[in-house]
Amino acid sequence: MFSKIKKIGILGGGQLGRMSALSAAHLGFKIHILCPEKDCPASLVTPYFTCADYEDFKALEEFAGNVDVITYEFENIPLKTIEFLEKFKPVYPKSNLLEISQNRLNEKDFLNSLNILTAPWAPCRKPDDIDDILTKWDTQECIIKTTRFGYDGKGQLKHDVNSKSQESWNDLNTDEAVIEGIIDFDFEISVVIARDVRGQSAAYPAVKNEHKNHILSKTIAPAPNLSPEIAKQASDMAHKIADAVDLVGILALELFVTKDGGLIANEIAPRTHNSGHWTMDACAVSQFDNHIRCVAGLSVGATTPHSAAEMINLIGDDVNGLDQYLTMDHAHVHLYGKEDVKPGRKMGHVNILKMPHKELSA
Ligand code: AMP
Repeated sequence: MFSKIKKIGILGGGQLGRMSALSAAHLGFKIHILCPEKDCPASLVTPYFTCADYEDFKALEEFAGNVDVITYEFENIPLKTIEFLEKFKPVYPKSNLLEISQNRLNEKDFLNSLNILTAPWAPCRKPDDIDDILTKWDTQECIIKTTRFGYDGKGQLKHDVNSKSQESWNDLNTDEAVIEGIIDFDFEISVVIARDVRGQSAAYPAVKNEHKNHILSKTIAPAPNLSPEIAKQASDMAHKIADAVDLVGILALELFVTKDGGLIANEIAPRTHNSGHWTMDACAVSQFDNHIRCVAGLSVGATTPHSAAEMINLIGDDVNGLDQYLTMDHAHVHLYGKEDVKPGRKMGHVNILKMPHKELSA
């Protein structure tokens, strides 16, 4: 089916918006970016750009008038912005998913309502709650996370019975948090799933994620040493979530694999995900292609990889070591067009294909 959609609006101008815009161009769509930062990575690959705040409602209305459908590339867009835009044009994923994933308490509630296991958790709104919960759980330590705006390990800390709860609370600098039991996991995985407007969905194989300083440094796809049963369970969870929220577009589910082979859901990202970047070179239809297809009303594409792959993030100074990848067999370098190298800043990534791989399964 040929899409009636001609121009897609994207809120947010980072690398995820940029790679979505590049996929959109391959599929014949125009992209209009709205982002508060001038010269953001996505604005450099399309002529249609509005530099405006996410709460500039006049600019938002004009933006909506210029596009046929709207999506977003990061989850911290204010909910009221999405609800406002929904009055003018379809916005995918819809605001229900954003509402769930923007607040860790909503997210855990939602996951548990689908019988998906999470770490033990409890809401925390004052320092005394921390001591009360540790006593109630009869445990020595926990992780406390702000309910909103946490990413790459920011907005969270480890707390133990020897720490002062008032100090931990002050460090978090919030009025609402979630306390989580610490999971003694073996490794971390994620599943990226795409779902189209007709409700057809396809999940990429579960991948293993490794972090440095709380930032994703490497993804191995498919996840090695993951039994087919656990891989299927992870994929089934992603399908269950996607159906429950009537997803249109992409979402990612982050999970812990426990030492006894169990799965514990940690987080949902309502967007394309860093752990899905390997699909750009190891699958015929990447996560960005699938996101654009789905929001534009086209059919979701197959998620079966043609190669196994490793994705290496180029973070901060890593980008200065680019030469080793430029001459490497089966290595595809992606750079995001960011001029300033800063510690912790994602400058690009490299997908190294492992070929041939005989036993790939979606
Ligand atoms: P998050 O911001 O929830 O994605 O957490 C960032 C990282 O902290 C995760 O990738 C884990 O490595 C670690 N982490 C988060 N929650 C827990 C938990 N309940 N138990 C153990 N490690 C955790």
